[in-house]
Amino acid sequence: VSSDGNKKISRVRVAVRLRPYLDKEDEKGEGPCVRGLDKQNLEIVNWRNATETVKYHFDAFHGEKTTQQEVFLSSVKPVLSHVLNGQNASVFAYGPTGAGKTHTMLGSAEKPGVIPRAVREVFNLVHAKDAEEGWDYSISMSYLEIYNEKVLDLLSPSSQDLPIRQDKDKNIFIPGLTNVTISSFSDFDTHFVPASLNRTTASTKLNQRSSRSHAILLIKVVRTSRVLPHRQQTGKLYLVDLAGSEDNRRTGNQGIRLKESGAINLSLFTLSKVVDSLNSGASVRVPYRDSKLTRLLQDSLGGSAHSVMITNIAPEYKYYFDTFSALNFAAKSKMI
Ligand code: ADP
Ligand code: MG
Repeated sequence: VSSDGNKKISRVRVAVRLRPYLDKEDEKGEGPCVRGLDKQNLEIVNWRNATETVKYHFDAFHGEKTTQQEVFLSSVKPVLSHVLNGQNASVFAYGPTGAGKTHTMLGSAEKPGVIPRAVREVFNLVHAKDAEEGWDYSISMSYLEIYNEKVLDLLSPSSQDLPIRQDKDKNIFIPGLTNVTISSFSDFDTHFVPASLNRTTASTKLNQRSSRSHAILLIKVVRTSRVLPHRQQTGKLYLVDLAGSEDNRRTGNQGIRLKESGAINLSLFTLSKVVDSLNSGASVRVPYRDSKLTRLLQDSLGGSAHSVMITNIAPEYKYYFDTFSALNFAAKSKMI
C-alpha cells in the first residue's frame, strides 16, 4: 500500500485457479504438467529440464478440486460489502482460452460461477441492510463487450462503438450504455441470459469471437440516505471475463485475426502494465489511458477500489507455454 496524495492505493489480489485435467484435451496422454502444493503454492515442470519444477507463490491458489462456492467465498465475497458502502470493485478472470475463465465467472446451471453468486449475494446484503440502516438501495446492471478496442452494448446489440468519458469527480462512464434497474435475481437473469446467449452464438459464427473479446458485467449499487435525500453514494462492481491470454502470433493467425490479436494484446498488455504499476507501490504513472479496457476500469482498479484477478490455468501439456506465461504475469503482479 502506498499513497497518491491522500488516497490509498490498494494492490490487486492475485489468485490462481487450476482446472481439473480433462482427458479429451490431452490426446498424447502426457498427464498434467502443473500441480498444486498448498493453498498458496504450485509447481510446473521446467521446460529446460523435465526432472525439475518451477515453484510459484500467490495470494491464493485454488486447486482442481476447488468448488465454485469456495472460489466465490475466498476471492469475491469479501469485496461485496465495500460495493454496498459506495466503493468500487473489480474481479477479472485471466488466462488462456480453455483454462476455465467462463466456468469461473459464469459457470453452468449445476455449477453456477462468480457472476450469479455475486448478484444473489448483493441482493441478500441489500435486503439485510434495508431492515437496519438509514439507506435506500437501488441496483442496476450494464453488460458490455470490448472487441477490437470497440465498446459494444450487449443489452442493446445494434449499438455502435460507444465512447468512454470521465466526469469532474473522476468517475468513468459510458454515455448511451444501457443501464437497467433490477430488483431481484430473476430480474437480473431476464436481462443477462439472452445477452450472454447472443454473445455465445455470435462467437461460433464469428470464429471464437468470445475468446478474443472482454465481456464486462457492471452491477451498480446506488444508496440514498433516508435522512438526507441529497446524500447519495454509488458503488460499482465489475465482473470481467477477459479475452484469452494465449499468444495468437504463435498460432499463425492472419489478416483480420491478426488485427484482432493485436487489439487484444493491447488491452491485455496494458492491463498487465496497470496491475504491475499498481502492485509495485512506486509512484509510477499508471497507464490506464493506453487501452479501452483499462480506461473503463480506471475508477475501479487501484485507488480505493478492491480488485481481484483470478488467473485460470489448465494442467495439460498442450497449454504449457500459455500456462507458463500466464503464471509469470500473475507472479510478477503478485511479487512486485
Ligand atoms: P475459457 O473460458 O477460459 O476458454 P472454459 O471456462 O470454457 O474456458 O473452460 C474450458 C472447459 O473446461 C469447459 O468445458 C469447462 O466446462 C471446463 N472447465 C473449466 N474449469 C473447470 C472446473 N473448475 N471444473 C470442471 N470443468 C471445468
Ligand atoms: Mg470463455
